[in-house]
Amino acid sequence: MNSLLTIALFGTLAWALPIVQETERISKKDMELAEKYIKLYYPESESTPVIRSKVKNGIAPEKIQEMQEFLGLKVTGKLDANTLDAMNKPRCGIPDLGEYNTFPGSPKWGKEELTYSILNYTPDMERSHVDYAIEKAWKVWSDVTPLTFTRVYGKSADIEISFATGAHGDGFSFDGEGGNLAHAFSPAFGGNAHFDDDEFWAKDLKGTNLFLVAVHEFGHSLGLQHSKVLGAVMFPIYQPMDPKALRLHTDDIEGIQSLYGAPGNYDYDYDSSSRNPTTAPTEVPLTESCNPNQAFDAVTSLRGETIFFKDSFFWRKNPLRSEIEKDPISAFWPALSSGVDAAYENKDKDIVFLFKGHKYWSTRGNIIEHGFPKSIQSLGFPYTVKKVDAAAYDRSSKKTYFFSGNNYWRYDEEKNSMEQGYPRKITDDFQKIGSKVDAAFIDNGHFYLFSGSKQYEFESKTKRFLGIKKSNSWLGCQ
Ligand SMILES: [Zn+2]
Ligand SMILES: [Zn+2]
Repeated sequence: MNSLLTIALFGTLAWALPIVQETERISKKDMELAEKYIKLYYPESESTPVIRSKVKNGIAPEKIQEMQEFLGLKVTGKLDANTLDAMNKPRCGIPDLGEYNTFPGSPKWGKEELTYSILNYTPDMERSHVDYAIEKAWKVWSDVTPLTFTRVYGKSADIEISFATGAHGDGFSFDGEGGNLAHAFSPAFGGNAHFDDDEFWAKDLKGTNLFLVAVHEFGHSLGLQHSKVLGAVMFPIYQPMDPKALRLHTDDIEGIQSLYGAPGNYDYDYDSSSRNPTTAPTEVPLTESCNPNQAFDAVTSLRGETIFFKDSFFWRKNPLRSEIEKDPISAFWPALSSGVDAAYENKDKDIVFLFKGHKYWSTRGNIIEHGFPKSIQSLGFPYTVKKVDAAAYDRSSKKTYFFSGNNYWRYDEEKNSMEQGYPRKITDDFQKIGSKVDAAFIDNGHFYLFSGSKQYEFESKTKRFLGIKKSNSWLGCQ
C-alpha cells in the first residue's frame, strides 16, 4: 500500500489508542503536537494492527517507541524533553513507515529518461537559483543511476515541481512556517514534489535550503521511502548543512540502485570518485588521509563504526565496508562544526559525548540531547582544567578515562562521579607516551592512545604496553 493511500485512509479512521500515562509536565500544547506528529508521520498501516482501548484519546506508548527508534532517540515510550525537541524540528511531510527504503510494492518509473517541469516559483529566491537548486538535486540521483532528468517547459512532464501553501488541492495541507517543509508522491502516484511556500527558501543556510530538501523529496519521487540510517539523505528530519558537502549515504545509493541499478560506468571503488562525485569524499584529495604526519583530535566508536575527528571533518570506518568515508562535522552535529577535542561512546546507553573547550554535549545519533552543552566542571573536573584532550569508555569496568595535559582521570559511569585518587600522571601508568594524548578509545580489551602521528596500544585491564603504530594506519595507510 502506498503511503499516500495510508494517509488518505488514515484520515477517515477514528483514532483511539491507549493514552500515555505521563501527565508529568506535559503541556496541552506539547500533547497536541505529539498527537498530530504521530498521526501524520507514524500512521497505522495494515501490517501493524491498531491497538485499541477504552481510552478516547492520547498516544500509545508503542507509537512513541516506534518514533523514538526511527529517529534514533532513546526509546522510553514517553514524551520526554528530547522527544519533544525532535518533534519540533522541521521535516519532510511523508510518514516514517517501517524499515523499507522503497514504498511498499516498490513502485518505480518504467523508463530511464524522465522529464520535469517547474510550475511556479517562490518569491524567496531568484528564479535562476531555484532552477539551479532543482537541477543539482536531480543530478545527485542521476550520478548513481542510469536515470536522466530533462527539464521541459509548457508541456506535461513526468514530474511536476511546485510551491504551495496550506491546503493546495491534494488533500495534504501544509502547516505554515516550520514543521512540514515539503512532500513528494511515489512513482505510483506521479512523483510530483510540493514545497511549502510558508517556509523561507534559500540557496544557502539563511533559510531552508531548497537544494537539500529537493534531493530528499526527489528520492520519494523516484520511489525511496524514509530511512532511519543516521546521515542518510532519506532521513525524515531536515539536516541543515553546507549544500556543497551533501552526498548520498551508501544506504541511499543501495536503495535507489535496488530500483534502477547503477549507471553504466558505476563502480563502488574508492577510485571511482572522479566519475561519481556524490559518492566520493568531499573537498579532500584522497591522498590526504595517508599523510604520514596524520594526527587526530578525537576518536570514538559510534553505533559500530569508528569515528576519527580532525579539524572540521571526521572519517567513518565501518567494519562491513572497505571504503572509509569522510564527512564534514556540520553534516551531523552543526553545533560542533569547527571541531571537537575529545569524544567517547557509552555503548550501554547509546550515547556519544563530544567535548570542545570547557563544554560537552550528549548526543544520540546526530541529535543533541536536551539540556546540553554542559560545563566539563559538572563532571567533576577542577576549574584549572580548561579542556579535555581525549576520552575513552571501558565497557567492562563501566569507567571512562579522561586525559588533559599531563594528567588523566577516571570517571565512574554508574555512580556518575569522578573516582578518588585522580588525577594521575599519564606517564606513571602508560609507558612510552612522552607527551600529551590527543585521542583515545578502548575496543575489545585494548586501549588505543593517539599522540601526534603515533598510536600506542595497551591492554586495557593491566595497561601493559603492546606496541606502537602510525596513527594513519587506521585509515588504511601502509
Ligand atoms: Zn521525506
Ligand atoms: Zn502537496
